[in-house]
Amino acid sequence: MRSTMMQMPLTVNQILERGNQIFGNREIVSRRPDKSLHRTNYAALYRRSRQLAAALLEAGIKPGDRVATLMWNHAFHLEAYFGIPAAGAVLHTLNLRLAPEDIAYIINDAQDRILIVDDVLIPLMEKVKPKVKLERIIVVPTTGAPVPESYDNYERFIDRDAFNYRYPELDENAACGMCYTSGTTGRPKGVVYSHRSTVLHALGVALPDCLNLSVMDAVLAVTPMFHANSWGVPYAAVMVGAAQVYPGQHMGAIDLLDLMENEGVTLAMGVPTIWLTILQALEAEPTRWKLKKGMRMMVGGSAAPPAMITAFEKYDLSIKHGWGMTELSPVGTLSWLKPEHLGLPLEEQHRIRALQGLPLPLVELRVMGEEKALPWDGKSVGELQARGPWVTGGYYNSPTDPDKFTVDGWLRTGDVASISPGGHMRISDRTKDLIKSGGEWISSVDIENAIMSHPAVAEAAVIAVKHPKWDERPLAAVVVKQGKSVTEEELRRHLEVHFAKWQIPDDWAFIDAVPRTSTGKFLKTKLREDFKSWISRTPG
Ligand code: AMP
Repeated sequence: MRSTMMQMPLTVNQILERGNQIFGNREIVSRRPDKSLHRTNYAALYRRSRQLAAALLEAGIKPGDRVATLMWNHAFHLEAYFGIPAAGAVLHTLNLRLAPEDIAYIINDAQDRILIVDDVLIPLMEKVKPKVKLERIIVVPTTGAPVPESYDNYERFIDRDAFNYRYPELDENAACGMCYTSGTTGRPKGVVYSHRSTVLHALGVALPDCLNLSVMDAVLAVTPMFHANSWGVPYAAVMVGAAQVYPGQHMGAIDLLDLMENEGVTLAMGVPTIWLTILQALEAEPTRWKLKKGMRMMVGGSAAPPAMITAFEKYDLSIKHGWGMTELSPVGTLSWLKPEHLGLPLEEQHRIRALQGLPLPLVELRVMGEEKALPWDGKSVGELQARGPWVTGGYYNSPTDPDKFTVDGWLRTGDVASISPGGHMRISDRTKDLIKSGGEWISSVDIENAIMSHPAVAEAAVIAVKHPKWDERPLAAVVVKQGKSVTEEELRRHLEVHFAKWQIPDDWAFIDAVPRTSTGKFLKTKLREDFKSWISRTPG
């Protein structure tokens, strides 16, 4: 028997409509390149996104065509988030931190027809242009300076009355967005989001135990809008009517803290490296900023060091740790406490909050051993696999890859994890970052977290170096906090509390900064390259 329920396709257009109808006066604040603030609201977002959609159709864009963006985080980018799907086209966000050759490869692979680009990024775009076949390049005048005559001016392009604009009829499974994986191994691959997956993901992340996103919030997206839709939060924020604050290109700790204070930010998202610099700025000037009490900070993209989570509590700021992947739209898990945890000692509660967390509703996880799924006992460690309505089932333009998908339809994440009986997932490493010493596995993440809990340490990354007898040994690359000092021996003693002797690095390097990926994560491939001729000091 079929239900009597209406068949309503889930589309991003419904989010845009709701934003205008119910939350039209909610604000969107963006930092301009000169650091002044641009203010607009959801009613204007609605009007201008629909103007963009109408202009794209008039320019010959057909449903399913790719329209790329090369833009920082700001309200114009948010217009593209809604305006491109409102035309039935596919928003393809380009990572502006990649080399021009890689950006060109991605544009060609996706067959982008039109590019929308910030005026401040024209120099980068001009390095890409000779290598790609774009029909039109539309420049957004974010600085207020005139747009060069050789390019279309975004303001002129969208200038029209779109009051009566009608969305094309859309299948909810039609593509609405596209993002390429960071491609640390091999070429980047395209992940294509649907209207349906984007709407469901927005509902999922907004839930009370997840980000608890509401009309009362002001959300600061530090995560780039070119990285997995800024974790889907821009869509979720319009859905619930939360105000949005965008940093533009100014991602330094002082600029971010100023924005948080001045705009009353209640929720901010970013990778751990961002929060580590913010913590250092707060520690240097603890009374300078008056932040909203209890401000939530969502951290993900790589493991949040537990010591950082506790350190923020001193400032009445609360870290929400989560795990995700471009392939998962991107949020897969977030960590929250259950009622039975509230009676536990504070230290144990912290330990649970520092885990990668519980799967969001509709996301299924399993940890695979050699042949079968392992029990959720908090101890069995294997490859983490995922499936769900916002998990990709393949890559654009690539034949199904058995390394990435199982025959029974799960995504192989490449992460190594365990799951506790109550469902809290814990990542021990990326498969390729694990260190195999004398046949035993050492988790680089566990050692990094422990080193970063030392008060003199700002950052630490652990990689494998070759050893003639033990095959691999851990090398710890450490960045010491300004004005502090610490020795190898002190750090070794600090680790002795938590680790067996053979797990503790004998190899230490004090460096100025850990190299970063284009999305702000520690770039271990570069560290491995830097230390490739290092001979481990562990006795044979
Ligand atoms: P990306 O697709 O660039 O977002 O990268 C996804 C990968 O980042 C995952 O497969 C994990 O290896 C890593 N990652 C994301 N969040 C976390 C986290 N909270 N803890 C540890 N690793 C993470």
